[in-house]
Amino acid sequence: MKAYTTSKRLFERSGAALAGGVSSSLRAAMRPVPLFAASGRGAVVTDADGNRYIDYLLAYGPLILGHAHPELTERIHAAMTNGYTFGLQHEGEIELAARLTEALPCAEQVAFSGSGTEAVMLALRIARSHTGRTKIVRFHGHYHGWSDAIFTAFPSADMKGGAASDAGGKTMPGTGGQSELALQDVILLPWNDAVALEETLRARGHEVAAVITEPVMCNSGCIRPRDGYLERMRELTRELGIVLIFDEVITGFRFGLGGAHERFGIAPDLMTMGKALAGGIALSAVAGSRELMRVVSSGKVSHLGTLNGNCVATAAAIATLDILGRNGGEAFVRMEATAARLAQGLRERIAANGFRGVVNQEGPVFHMMFIDRDAVEDFAAFSERDGALYSDFAERMLEEGVLVRTNGLWYVSTEHTEAHAEATLQAADRALARLAA
Ligand code: PLP
Repeated sequence: MKAYTTSKRLFERSGAALAGGVSSSLRAAMRPVPLFAASGRGAVVTDADGNRYIDYLLAYGPLILGHAHPELTERIHAAMTNGYTFGLQHEGEIELAARLTEALPCAEQVAFSGSGTEAVMLALRIARSHTGRTKIVRFHGHYHGWSDAIFTAFPSADMKGGAASDAGGKTMPGTGGQSELALQDVILLPWNDAVALEETLRARGHEVAAVITEPVMCNSGCIRPRDGYLERMRELTRELGIVLIFDEVITGFRFGLGGAHERFGIAPDLMTMGKALAGGIALSAVAGSRELMRVVSSGKVSHLGTLNGNCVATAAAIATLDILGRNGGEAFVRMEATAARLAQGLRERIAANGFRGVVNQEGPVFHMMFIDRDAVEDFAAFSERDGALYSDFAERMLEEGVLVRTNGLWYVSTEHTEAHAEATLQAADRALARLAA
């Protein structure tokens, strides 16, 4: 048994001056205690008690190059020594913007901000200003940040409350203190359902500024779009003059440098990026056509943020792009192979230990769930999973030296090797056997 004595002691202390003892509500869900980190290197993180874990949380996604990647660290350090931020323009922004327009098929121009939430806020404003319409179509189970404009109750095992609140077709605030009025412009639809989308857009398309979607529903089950679904979404939005936004905060720089839209060969009008964009430094972006971005260039839409495009963040993103792009992007092939091996190994071990489960994998990300089904292809099916059982499994994995998110989503980085995958599968076997006992 591992001891979490120091983390427990620190968590008790942190609640005194830090509201809730954590800096993001999700972290409070970790059991047996929100862990305190001491250091990280490559695919391994060490906690305050000296316990070491193979890390698949990866800071909820940003650490595509693992922890403290030597080249990334060196380039961030070099940038910092010249001054971190000026509130003036600098050449790093020009270089990164140009590099992104080369890498992202849908991008002629980009705008930088600090978090995925802000990038989505900006994308929605661009869409509304461009179209002169106000309604936004979004989907059950997708997450687009926590702004008033778009945060609906989110059914996640590691998010408190509201689990079923957006499952019944009604758009409910995702948090206390959120304006319900802000959500009046949100039309909530089931995802992966081309008929529901077409019916709604044919009836109400004239009011709709944007359809926003995760191109793969990574936040709820890592569910792929059904064949033809994104294509139909693209055709309908184009026909009806609606801005199509792909929220690639997870998939950007993860499904290849060109993100999911390159992988699927479908160009949205706008995309958002965050998380992996700067390898673990806060940076996000909106990218799209020059025509759409004109509302920003003209000043019609305000784009604000004190630290937007700062030198440290742009240097980190350029370094991340360089590292991931080397040798024809072989890192993506490697990460995907590791994820596929893990996903298949977990499927086998779930069954071998007498459980029913599904592991949906796409690129270097997968979702493991305990569920009495052969496949999970939409949000309704995903909602049937046994979240409490998975949470028990995550706690046992921690004891076995593997850090996974309590809701079932796993990320693989460039630093995860075959040896890590093998050790992880052996740990999963032991954890499942203990769970079954
Ligand atoms: N969009 C998606 C698809 C996300 O997964 C997230 C975060 O998990 C966000 C937006 C919000 O990003 P951030 O947490 O950086 O505000």
